[in-house]
Amino acid sequence: MPLQHLGEVSGQLAEAGSEFHRRGWMLGTSGNLSAIVDRNPLTLAITRSGCDKGRLTGDQIVTLGQGQTPGPEASAETPLHWLLVESQGAGAVFHTHSVWSTLASERCFAEGGAWIEGYEMLKGLEGVVTHEHREWIPILENAQDMAELSDRMASVLDSRRAPHGVLIRRHGLYTWGADIAQARRHVEILEFLFEVLGRSGEESWQH
Ligand SMILES: [Zn+2]
Repeated sequence: MPLQHLGEVSGQLAEAGSEFHRRGWMLGTSGNLSAIVDRNPLTLAITRSGCDKGRLTGDQIVTLGQGQTPGPEASAETPLHWLLVESQGAGAVFHTHSVWSTLASERCFAEGGAWIEGYEMLKGLEGVVTHEHREWIPILENAQDMAELSDRMASVLDSRRAPHGVLIRRHGLYTWGADIAQARRHVEILEFLFEVLGRSGEESWQH
């Protein structure tokens, strides 16, 4: 384990947690943050469960190898982070619990997701070059069984629609990126879009 690198990654996760907490997207102990610290063997650094994400310290971030059963200290949502690392090639996975993502997850749940189209801010999502892009955000029913939720999440990560995020009903957002900077940008862009659509009213959502 490259300890220096782990220290750097932990510092960047703590900084993201502090910023998301300040923006109201990660209040109390809600949400979790992870990032790959080593590719060979594949090793994930993830926030411990039950700690305040606005004041993360180095010892509140634990590391796990691929296929290793997470101990009780790791976030209960660890399987979802691994799914996104393995299936999307993510280098960082961020999970927030904001007001606007919670409202969006309820509003479009019956349709299985929401389309977001025609906003300049969409260009902040990796690979998107025009505001005319149509972004599909799948929405899954919430669950406490993370293995089962992980299976359902895998089924909506359609490569044709290639979503940049997934909402969990009345719960929050999962998004990811090739690295911490990209995942952080995706949280900011998606949270912006959920808030714009939420404030615009029912007619602005496309199902
Ligand atoms: Zn959560």
